[in-house]
Parts: sequence; C-alpha cells; structure tokens
Amino acid sequence: MCIFCKIINGELPCSKVYEDEHVIAILDIAQVTYGHTLVIPKKHCNDILDADEETMIHIAKVLPMLSNKIVKNCKAEGSHIISNQGAISGQTVDHLHFHIIPRYREDDAIVVQFNETEKPDFSEVLKTING
Ligand code: AMP
Ligand code: ZN
Repeated sequence: MCIFCKIINGELPCSKVYEDEHVIAILDIAQVTYGHTLVIPKKHCNDILDADEETMIHIAKVLPMLSNKIVKNCKAEGSHIISNQGAISGQTVDHLHFHIIPRYREDDAIVVQFNETEKPDFSEVLKTING
C-alpha cells in the first residue's frame, strides 16, 4: 500500500486540512511555504492518466475552494497549484496529488521557470498532439 493510502486509512499520521467523501487535504511534511497543502483523492490512482472522471470533477471543485481559503487565511499573495505527473516531472509519490503552495514573496523557496526553447513548426506540433 502506498504512503498516501496509509495516511487515508489512518495507519500513518498527518495534519489534516480538509476531508470529504472523495478527498483529503493534508499539510505537506516538507513545507515549501507556510500552509503548503496536498489535495489527495481517497481512491488510489497513480496519476491523472488513470484517475476517473468523477474524481477529477470533484478535485476541480475542491482545489479552488481550498486554495482560496489558504491564500486568504494565511495572508498569501497567490499560490501555485501543481501536480507532478511521472518521475520525469518530479513525482515522488505514485498516488495522484495536487500541491497548493501559497506564495508570499518573490524569494519564497520555490522557482517555477518556463524557459522557451527553439520554436517548433506549430502545425506539425498540432498534428502530433491530435494524432
Ligand atoms: P511529489 O514529489 O510531487 O510526488 O510530492 C510528494 C510530496 O509528498 C512531497 O512534497 C513530500 O514532502 C510529501 N510527503 C511525503 N510523505 C509525506 C507524509 N507522510 N506526509 C505529508 N507529506 C508527505
Ligand atoms: Zn495510494
């Protein structure tokens, strides 16, 4: 059983921010910023690729509700909502989860930077994506 399933089953401790029928939200053990929270579906799935539609619809409701609450009550300026999909992207726990990372200052301990690479042929990219 994965570490998040153990937390959901009450076999491991956590600091619970929120819980309902479909999800729990807990404080990330490694707080990138104050209030860093993980939103985790109760039903195990590795990532978004094998998440069912009902789970994703529910998460889409919970994420804005919780991120608004965290930003407001922690007096943050904004937040990142990030979900790493696959080891290449930095996923270390193979149970779908979404990070809510409140942002306070430009020098918070997180850097998300999108560097543009050489521009591809956009029509070729569209053909590739759409098959
Ligand atoms: P990721 O690297 O995107 O898969 O995120 C996994 C996150 O889970 C990391 O930020 C870890 O700090 C966090 N984490 C791992 N174990 C625990 C735990 N027992 N309780 C709370 N957070 C955890
Ligand atoms: Zn699991």
